[in-house]
Amino acid sequence: MTDLLTIAERRTDVLDKIKAAAKRAGRDDLPALIAVSKVQPDARVKAMLESGQRIYGENRVQEAQSRWGETFAAHRKDLTLHLIGPLQTNKSDDAVALFDVIETVDREKLVKHLLKSADKIGRLPRLYVQVNTGEEPQKAGVLPADLPAFLARMKSEYDLTPEGLMCIPPVGQAASPHFWFLGNLARDHGIAKLSMGMSGDYEVATEMGATSVRVGSAMFGARDYD
Ligand SMILES: *Cc1c(COP(=O)(O)O)cnc(C)c1O
Repeated sequence: MTDLLTIAERRTDVLDKIKAAAKRAGRDDLPALIAVSKVQPDARVKAMLESGQRIYGENRVQEAQSRWGETFAAHRKDLTLHLIGPLQTNKSDDAVALFDVIETVDREKLVKHLLKSADKIGRLPRLYVQVNTGEEPQKAGVLPADLPAFLARMKSEYDLTPEGLMCIPPVGQAASPHFWFLGNLARDHGIAKLSMGMSGDYEVATEMGATSVRVGSAMFGARDYD
């Protein structure tokens, strides 16, 4: 980690690398850069806001409420907030009230709760379905084999088509087969958005068609814990 660089410099570096990757792939668009601010100290988040970064990703509803509903509440209206961590149904109201995008929809019970919350609160965030492309037992997400039935059910039962698919490839594996797989699933189901790529692999994700990349430590610096 290049801790001698400022957060603004690291962000510029990431944006440059995204541009270069898009060019290599012959893309004429760029993925959105989501700054993953989970666990980061306020001083770093402040520096990121000052760099002009307007899209943020968070793992936990409570932590996000404290950061974006309290500490940095004055910025909230200028920002787009993505929930990228697992969501418990008892946090559904809070998540719907706070986030613009919920990337981790992975079961019908959660869909039901989100729609109920949306009715109550009067807004429905954009929804992505998380796919467990590595079929890891401990990881959230719909198994690839279950995705067609899950999407069909969302449509028939709730008249919902998710805006995107999201994945987190298994640690220690090459990410590109997972990105390729997720892209194919999205194409097969007519889903436009692909959230994939983190600090270690956002360039390859960009080459493989990510419409958003979720980058934390490469811009903020290492997390103390997570
Ligand atoms: C923490 C996290 C990230 C960012 O990870 P970095 O390696 O720090 O870029 C991206 N996506 C998800 C789902 C995360 O939980």
